[in-house]
Amino acid sequence: GDRTDTLLQTEDLRKEFGGFTATDEVDFSVAEGELRCLIGPNGAGKSTLLNLVTGTYDASGGSIYYDGHDVTDLDPHQRVRKGISMKFQVPSVYGDLTVRENARLPIQRFADGDERRRRVDDAIEAAGLAGYEHVDASQLSHGQQQQLEIGMAAALEPDLLLLDEPVAGLDVAEREAIAERVTRLNEAEGIAFVVIEHDTEFVANIADEVTVLHNGEIFREGPIEAIESDPEVQRIYLGG
Ligand code: ADP
Ligand code: MG
Repeated sequence: GDRTDTLLQTEDLRKEFGGFTATDEVDFSVAEGELRCLIGPNGAGKSTLLNLVTGTYDASGGSIYYDGHDVTDLDPHQRVRKGISMKFQVPSVYGDLTVRENARLPIQRFADGDERRRRVDDAIEAAGLAGYEHVDASQLSHGQQQQLEIGMAAALEPDLLLLDEPVAGLDVAEREAIAERVTRLNEAEGIAFVVIEHDTEFVANIADEVTVLHNGEIFREGPIEAIESDPEVQRIYLGG
């Protein structure tokens, strides 16, 4: 799209762990309000790229621009305030806290009073867990826990929401529930998404566009139909 529509842009972004290059001069961009999936074999550098965008990892080189500003040196909380939110690959709900108590956790440092209550309500609504407020998170299904985490990340009122494998280990019905949450937040709230996911059916269900990472580099970008049928993409998944 048009340059003014760009929400996120990385330039020559690099990350090294010791001598190993996990992110190799990546120019990755996300337009306002778009829903992009990030795919690629295990170890391709998908989680690392999103962790660089949130500031969980410091870049070894290159730049990250968000909403026209250079955020490369901002700490993670400053990036949340600018509108970047993430659901991490590792689950982060507390089983012995209720849905409502969990929902309050990420919001409490950003809002208080009525504003906080409204946002906690919004988190539960966005998670599709109305009626479950006082249930311990440990009593939720794995799918509902993932929904809760997405609701919690959405309650930070981001313009960009990053999801790392939100449907891993879920059954078909649970995957559909997550697809519905994500699609609704994208369409109703205009939140742009980057979703890491392997399941091509899920990807085809939700995504406008797909970016394929391989060996820390952008390998292909395009609509899911073209990506799925690309023999070079099939080859890298087979370890070629
Ligand atoms: P993906 O999410 O695509 O499976 P990752 O981004 O997790 O891949 O990892 C990319 C590569 O970087 C892998 O080879 C992984 O071992 C390495 N890596 C990721 N995080 C670290 C870390 N904290 N320390 C050392 N190596 C890491
Ligand atoms: Mg990963």
